[in-house]
Amino acid sequence: MTGSAYEQTQFFLDKAFRILKIDPRFEMALKTPGREVRVELVIDMDDGSIGNFIGYRVQHDDSRGPYKGGLRYHPDVDIDEVRSLASLMTWKTAVINIPFGGAKGGITCNPKNLSDREKQRLTRAFVDKIHDIIGPHQDIPAPDMGTSAKEMAWIMHEYSARHGFTPGVVTGKPVDLFGSPGRSAATGRGVVITLQEHLRRQGKELRECRFVIQGFGNVGSWAASLLHEQGAKVLAISDVNGGIYDAKGLDIPAILKTVDCDGTCVYHPNVTRISNEDLLTLDTDVLIPAALGGVLNSDNAGQVKARIIAEAANHPTTPEADSLFIDKGIVVLPDILCNAGGVTVSYFEWVQNTQNYPWEEEIVNQRLKERMIAAYQDMVATASHHETDLRTAAFILGIERVARATIQRGRV
Ligand code: NAD
Repeated sequence: MTGSAYEQTQFFLDKAFRILKIDPRFEMALKTPGREVRVELVIDMDDGSIGNFIGYRVQHDDSRGPYKGGLRYHPDVDIDEVRSLASLMTWKTAVINIPFGGAKGGITCNPKNLSDREKQRLTRAFVDKIHDIIGPHQDIPAPDMGTSAKEMAWIMHEYSARHGFTPGVVTGKPVDLFGSPGRSAATGRGVVITLQEHLRRQGKELRECRFVIQGFGNVGSWAASLLHEQGAKVLAISDVNGGIYDAKGLDIPAILKTVDCDGTCVYHPNVTRISNEDLLTLDTDVLIPAALGGVLNSDNAGQVKARIIAEAANHPTTPEADSLFIDKGIVVLPDILCNAGGVTVSYFEWVQNTQNYPWEEEIVNQRLKERMIAAYQDMVATASHHETDLRTAAFILGIERVARATIQRGRV
């Protein structure tokens, strides 16, 4: 099956539902999104023309707490992708066991072609259209691909102008503006904690392994930096313009300076250029997809040489590739656990905003580590109990938690 992003997510969910043997009517209730919103955004462009964009917010499930999920600015954003990502958030917040549900949003645009002023107008226009359905106890957006702390600050400001001072309406804000220390690194840090725990159980350490990372944005660059800091060898990284490779290991701090200067890693000196496709099939111990969905698929899965795939991106692996990896004994650390560090520290940020009481970064990082390790252990125990792979186990864990909350609310 090579279906849409949503169909692929449903495929993985169905595998878990088959093991759980849940009543099909209840299964439908758990799968169906609570609300889907599509809005038209008309803004003034810098050159005097009118820009016309479409924005989406899908609120999938709120049985365990307010809807929670990122906001993506990318040309490929459509309702199908947003729906799929919203569903993943429901199971992710349940797996990591934080009191939130699942949502996702996005605007179909190419943020690289927009000035900061245009992005600001677009973000404020989006808040104007959806402010009645978001809020600190209703639905809390956060950054995702193409968005950052900057957009979150604009959302907070625009929402507060209508509803009064409300820092908890959005997470991933700048630290100076009610953000949490440790939030920008959190997703990458969570990926590294998950890998460390997985390797520890096999008597291995991060610094004994080689890593290849696709995507050098927020998540990929933090994962690379933290791995490099711990003495691990990062052989290759990439961004939308292509990749770079060095068999001896890349100098990540130096590459960060190149990216700061040039906006891309590909002009970094004294390294070998490599395409994004070839990067995925390099000889490495661990592969970390940290960019787009669907990059590991039936076309390339057979050539993947990594023994471990840590899914930093959301749904980077198609069902066909996933079953091939299971057959070949390649361990996949699934997205709904592996990249949950971001939403976990978003939760910490929301707690700090709600209590108006900031935490130290050390506390944030320590609590993130505890939550990631606990969730990893719950997932491994579930896999062993049901004799299944880690992705299916993570979905089972998430479904069981959401199902219990839904039943206890008396909805079904
Ligand atoms: P980002 O926008 O900061 O970075 C994305 C990176 O991917 C950039 O380096 C970009 O150049 C690269 N990229 C874009 N198109 C590409 C292509 N066609 N081929 C190769 N590389 C390409 O985004 P991010 O926040 O780092 O998110 C990356 C992934 O992690 C996404 O799948 C996102 O959903 C997921 N994720 C992010 C967070 C978070 O906290 N930011 C949390 C959970 C999951």
